[in-house]
Amino acid sequence: MPNSEIDALNKAIRKEWPSKPGEKAKIYVGKFFNRVRIGSKVVAQVVGNHGTYTVSIHATELTTKSACSCYIGKGGYCHHCAALAATFLNNPDSFVEKTTKNLSDVKGMTDVNEFLQSVTLESLLAQLKEKGISQKAFAASIGMSTQHLSSVKSGELNNRFYHELGATKLACLWVLEHYGEINKGGK
Ligand SMILES: [Zn+2]
Repeated sequence: MPNSEIDALNKAIRKEWPSKPGEKAKIYVGKFFNRVRIGSKVVAQVVGNHGTYTVSIHATELTTKSACSCYIGKGGYCHHCAALAATFLNNPDSFVEKTTKNLSDVKGMTDVNEFLQSVTLESLLAQLKEKGISQKAFAASIGMSTQHLSSVKSGELNNRFYHELGATKLACLWVLEHYGEINKGGK
């Protein structure tokens, strides 16, 4: 089963980066650490010219989304992304597979962190929406502007992490859990 996800990544990467990494990318190939694969998404870090960058490639059925936290990497077109692509093709097994945790698996404080890292704010907000809670209503409920909530959400997808990301996810989870309770109580 995990092989199909590796295959999907392989295929997507070959399509997105058809040629060998250029001079600027070459120096980063193989230099990545904290290599992780969650399904068909790989994330790793590399030390660049201005600090450590978080770089990711996500192959979905429709598109390949890459992102890097360097100053030009927002859309995924930087040499760090190209280098991560080549690093994965060279050594896919060096990426440690992480499975998405279920909320019921969370037993201690270290699990909280792992769980929060395995879900995106985007997916949590989508779950809220399914329950009829809009992004605007949720933002208002925690005293955050809708624009800022949007920034925190898209920041995560572009590997630009806001300090309040984890706390915002926890707030989503709280609402998700208690909204059900409130509904049940009302019946
Ligand atoms: Zn970059």
